[in-house]
Amino acid sequence: MGVTTLQGLTGWPDRPCRNTKAELWFGRSSNVADHLRESPNEIVLRLRTAKAICAGCPIRVECLEEELAFGTDNQYGVRGGLTAKERVALLRGRRKAAGRSRGEVA
Ligand code: SF4
Repeated sequence: MGVTTLQGLTGWPDRPCRNTKAELWFGRSSNVADHLRESPNEIVLRLRTAKAICAGCPIRVECLEEELAFGTDNQYGVRGGLTAKERVALLRGRRKAAGRSRGEVA
């Protein structure tokens, strides 16, 4: 599903990430002074907040599938209620399951 398709969904104008700061979804740039970097606790809190916002999104499933379409090498930030790491794990799990259903041995 492409961006154009996402924007065509009836829930698009009501997506709760609208008008939020990119930092919530992607974290602070790593090009900042040490004292401005996120602490591990700040990262956990930020990710929980972003995921909670996604949980109430009317287009969460479609958003997630759109991000998954970018593949394992192009996952950044929280999208569709999952972190980039979680989406990569999901993609790998799907690939393994698809391989098993085709009778391939890992
Ligand atoms: S699932 Fe999350 S990131 Fe995707 S549109 Fe909804 S609120 Fe935004």
